[in-house]
Amino acid sequence: MTDAFAVRGYVLPEGERREVFVVEGRITFEPVADADVAADGWIVPGLVDAHCHIGLDENGAVPDEVAEQQALDDRATGTLLMRDAGSPADTRWIDDRADLPRIIRAGRHIARTKRYIRNYGHEIEPPELPDYVAMEAKRGDGWVKLVGDWIDRDAGDLTPCWPRDAVEAAIETAHAHGARVTAHVFGEDALPDLIESGIDCIEHGTGLSADLVDSMASRGVALVPTAVQVDNFPQYAAAGESRYPTYARHMRDLHARRHETIRGAYEAGVPIYAGSDSGGALPHGIIASEVQALAGYGIGAADALGAASWRAREWLGRESTLREGAEAEFVVYPRNPLDDLRVLEQPTRIVLRGRIVA
Ligand SMILES: [Zn+2]
Repeated sequence: MTDAFAVRGYVLPEGERREVFVVEGRITFEPVADADVAADGWIVPGLVDAHCHIGLDENGAVPDEVAEQQALDDRATGTLLMRDAGSPADTRWIDDRADLPRIIRAGRHIARTKRYIRNYGHEIEPPELPDYVAMEAKRGDGWVKLVGDWIDRDAGDLTPCWPRDAVEAAIETAHAHGARVTAHVFGEDALPDLIESGIDCIEHGTGLSADLVDSMASRGVALVPTAVQVDNFPQYAAAGESRYPTYARHMRDLHARRHETIRGAYEAGVPIYAGSDSGGALPHGIIASEVQALAGYGIGAADALGAASWRAREWLGRESTLREGAEAEFVVYPRNPLDDLRVLEQPTRIVLRGRIVA
């Protein structure tokens, strides 16, 4: 069989030693004679970046060849599935490229007028929100992304972008269109309305309190902390310091409490997923850093890695285990990542959409 290969190793999360065969892109445990052994190591279901941006840089949409390189940089670190948390670029062409990771899109960011990074999102007023949500729900792959709070230049601080009734209408509209809703939130004040109105996920979440994480846990609302991004808050504070000292102080305070906040969410049972926030300010290909940063927040190694692999795949409705007949999508490492997450920086084999790509 020319198109068959084998991989031996300990398959996570169970850690059982197996010989995995890939025939015509699909997994089988039925031995295939003469299959080349492509790797031997620790086998992890394809990594997931649950918050990144393809087709975006600090100035807005980028040309296709730049988007392609972003996706390849992510792929090189084992990211084979991404939840794109908002992009102004049309990246549909990537779906037809068997050599590029799969993308679950949230369409384009929906932001309040003059309350977000220029050229990123739709910038609208509350009465327009349901129409824009419906449009992006149709354009995306089951997610809609709201900008829940941002600096309000008149207030000189982070404030909620939307009144409660607009939030309710937005979430109801998205759900009616079969899409889940997530929101960018740095501060405290936007969170109660979003969570009580039935949002599905919070991005960053640095303003979460003990009460709110309990409410998220009981409602099953997910959190994507973007730990690497949150580590940059002091830079954003410094950039805003002279004109917006209250905002700067607020960002530093959120940063100072970040470990406690995110560990509190984890301990309350909020489902946490790994998102690098690559694109925009941060480079692509940093999912390994994000998993290590989550572990640094006090999240156990298996939960931190699961947040970027099997648990995230399940959350996003994709194959989460190496089961008989499933499309082969996994990464092989030379050592057990659960013993040392730094090994995530050194994948030895990457199998994407049934094919060896590295
Ligand atoms: Zn983002």
